[in-house]
Amino acid sequence: MSIQAQHLTKLYGEQRAVHDVSFAIGAGEIVGFLGPNGAGKSTTMKILTGFIPQTEGKASVCGFDVEKESLDVRRHIGYLPEHNPLYLDMYVGEYLDFVGRLFGLRNRDARIRRMVERTGLGPEQHKTIRNLSKGYRQRVGLAQAMLNDPDVLILDEPTSGLDPNQLADIRELIRDLGREKTVLLSTHIMQEVQAICDRVLIINKGVLVADDKTEHLGSAAEGRIALTVSFKEELDPAGLKRLPGVLHVQSQGNRRWRLDIDENAVTATGTSPEEMLFRFAVEQQLTLLGSEKEKRNLEDIFRQLTQTADPAAPPTGQQD
Ligand code: ADP
Repeated sequence: MSIQAQHLTKLYGEQRAVHDVSFAIGAGEIVGFLGPNGAGKSTTMKILTGFIPQTEGKASVCGFDVEKESLDVRRHIGYLPEHNPLYLDMYVGEYLDFVGRLFGLRNRDARIRRMVERTGLGPEQHKTIRNLSKGYRQRVGLAQAMLNDPDVLILDEPTSGLDPNQLADIRELIRDLGREKTVLLSTHIMQEVQAICDRVLIINKGVLVADDKTEHLGSAAEGRIALTVSFKEELDPAGLKRLPGVLHVQSQGNRRWRLDIDENAVTATGTSPEEMLFRFAVEQQLTLLGSEKEKRNLEDIFRQLTQTADPAAPPTGQQD
């Protein structure tokens, strides 16, 4: 395994930023680490890179323990921290040379040339970093992270603050880097994960709520609908929850209910979701006043997992 986290917990004083997080990432995977702001993504990444210690649990990178073998971990890892801290007064080449010296790279000049070429920094390499656009600064950050030819890249929000053109370029670059490296990248944008990643880990309030292939989450979203139904009478939602294909029931007040439904599971029973609800109303002697159907997408699934997830619940999905 390239990256392994076992029951990681991090407390900042009283505040629990990461709670019992476990996952394993194999060589060559590009994994998206997705979650709302404050979910615990940066904290987990800082633990994996050996920048801060965990409070409980264990983590390893390329077989090295992040706490006990931190130097070995750093030799195998490239890290682009959030906000990409750079020395603005340095020239691009000068900065990369400085980083290369810190790593004690023997073939420094050749590596720098290779990384400048790989990240498309050629035309900008004689500028000071202060004079670079945000997109080119990110390229410098990526070149820095790749300089010692690490097996694992940990990228904390690598595309935040980029304009759409820069975003497309950096995504392309990360996809390209991911052909040779294991990549864990954090983001709070679902489309980013769809565009780049094979697999997605979703974290919410420090708890891992999903770990699945991106395509699985995508196909899960395809068959999902939300049906908002209103009845004349009060009812016990347990009856709605028992209907085939109903995944989640939420009260909207005023005897209106929003049902998340796996449409395929309903049609497999030979009926449509609307007809199923109509029959339910008849059987329960309720008056169905109306129903409204909407298709759900990956963005909805992300919202559902990060707004309503029970922090004690195990993650959804599984690994092959
Ligand atoms: P994310 O990267 O998903 O936005 P973080 O890992 O940065 O989330 O933060 C997780 C939680 O931990 C947040 O509530 C944040 O306020 C808190 N936190 C992060 N760093 C510190 C710190 N150094 N001291 C105290 N609390 C922190």
